[in-house]
Amino acid sequence: MSIRRLPEHVINRIAAGEVIERPAAVVRELVENALDAGARRVEIVFRHGGRTLIEVDDDGRGMTPDDLRLSIERHATSKLTDDELIAISTLGFRGEALASIAAVARLSIISRAAGSGEAWRLDAEPGKEPRLAPAARASGTRVSVRDLFFATPARLKFLRSVRAENMGTARLVRRLALARPDVAFALITDERRVIDLPAQTAEARIGAILGRDFPANGFAVSAARDGYLVTGRASLPTFSRGQPDLQFLFVNGRPVVDPLLTGAARAAYRDVLAAGRHPLLLLHVDCAADLVDVNVHPAKREVRFRDPALVRGLIIGALKQGIAEHGGKSAGHLGPRLAARAMPPSPSPAARAAAFAANSPLPAGLAEAAAQPLAAPSARVEAATEDAQDYPLGAALAQLHDTYILAQSADGLVIVDQHAAHERLTLERLKRQREGEGIARQPLLIPQVVTLDAASRERLLAAAGTLSELGLALEPFGDDAIAVSEVPALIAGHADIAQLVRDIAADLAQDETPHSLHERIEEVLSTFACHHSVRAGRRLSVDEMNALLRDMEATERSGQCNHGRPTWVTLSRADLERMFGRK
Ligand code: ADP
Ligand code: MG
Repeated sequence: MSIRRLPEHVINRIAAGEVIERPAAVVRELVENALDAGARRVEIVFRHGGRTLIEVDDDGRGMTPDDLRLSIERHATSKLTDDELIAISTLGFRGEALASIAAVARLSIISRAAGSGEAWRLDAEPGKEPRLAPAARASGTRVSVRDLFFATPARLKFLRSVRAENMGTARLVRRLALARPDVAFALITDERRVIDLPAQTAEARIGAILGRDFPANGFAVSAARDGYLVTGRASLPTFSRGQPDLQFLFVNGRPVVDPLLTGAARAAYRDVLAAGRHPLLLLHVDCAADLVDVNVHPAKREVRFRDPALVRGLIIGALKQGIAEHGGKSAGHLGPRLAARAMPPSPSPAARAAAFAANSPLPAGLAEAAAQPLAAPSARVEAATEDAQDYPLGAALAQLHDTYILAQSADGLVIVDQHAAHERLTLERLKRQREGEGIARQPLLIPQVVTLDAASRERLLAAAGTLSELGLALEPFGDDAIAVSEVPALIAGHADIAQLVRDIAADLAQDETPHSLHERIEEVLSTFACHHSVRAGRRLSVDEMNALLRDMEATERSGQCNHGRPTWVTLSRADLERMFGRK
């Protein structure tokens, strides 16, 4: 078969439909070209959500006039016919970007090849002959894409809001920037400098994009199996976000978007994060080229691992291990923060005393403490009955506001949120029971009837089998209620059953995506645990407090409650000494 050009309409279909489906895809192609050309600085200008202007300026090696003319030539092919378009998603496209862009927008490229004295400008737009003319600029290239999709109004309709396109592009640029910390990146969106990153070290780039607190509040991830290597960093459950927007995956150094990462993160953090909270992640998967296909999608937004289940399992395992190892250490790095807040500005103890006497403004916490009348202490102090040295979480000293347990450890002060701690302990106990001999259940003398809306009722009845495994037996009652006949022994007598049932229904409604029964069970367990926990405000004896501390030490992942808040924080002696200016 001879080589021939594709018919024009086929080319346009490919271009409009596949290679550049969104403005961000244009940015991606242009930035990758700039990086391929050895750029050390890439500046992106993005206007009206990419509709009116997308421009990428680089200081790379540039193009000669001949290169320029060739750059927008579409590849000819000997294989692809109109009918074979159907199979296109398996082929991947290279060398198509500029030609595709020129088919759906006004494209101009100004470039000066390294070492050449002159710059040239190429202008192209759909249906017209490209023009080449002399121009002026320093070496490097500027590609400007104007009026995207002006010739294909149907595509224009598919663009999302300006805000959504801006956000998508900013995320993309962050991903690209994380992959190449050695290159300076700037993104100017409608005259706003949204991203401005100098060339920097990898650590500095990670701090700039995921936040300076991320390294201190995360753990290193490292795992390998069957030719796949997973490395990177993940945040502790106590350092989470309301959106999964700071989760980055790189495959063999290339930034990719893959639902696999979000899914794996959800599974790994399910026990320790509330629904709707997301960890920060920066993960690299490295493998031999034949274990992954990066060009599954022509816009290169997806990868396909040869064994996706294995990679998913590897990521989940590595994250879970990290959470188990580091999650127990509370993320409450309270010391330095508190110290910074409470550190009086005066250098010497004498000057501090003078300032105190002169009633000079004190930092918020100290001012409050000073204002408390001494006659009404809010902490109940009891004699310590255990030796602090013996236990990591120390010996209970007092309960503060009926909510926090204060304990003295070998190295300082431990503050425990009793409700959060108890919630975690209950969940772990329920899980152990479920995995062991099964959850102890307690029949109710009189079944409790709970009226519900039709949707909640249906959802609960559909999950009846799962709930029964958890010790919660329910059946239909009339047509607007259910009857609960058994509850898990751990919560019997504590929980408001009607409220519990409604909360579970709401929990089941929240998550429409299908996930395994097992994972759903854990989710429901969390809800149970939450409702049976020692509420803040319950008075505990020293023995009860110590029992709770010992229980926490013996329990995996006791460093966070089920919602990812820390269950305890410490102030080390060094922290205290700093706070009081002793050091
Ligand atoms: P591909 O990158 O797959 O080769 P493109 O259509 O994206 O296909 O680009 C075509 C060619 O144009 C590139 O191979 C490169 O030679 C040249 N080119 C594109 N952008 C630049 C740039 N910013 N600097 C230097 N050369 C470039
Ligand atoms: Mg390219």
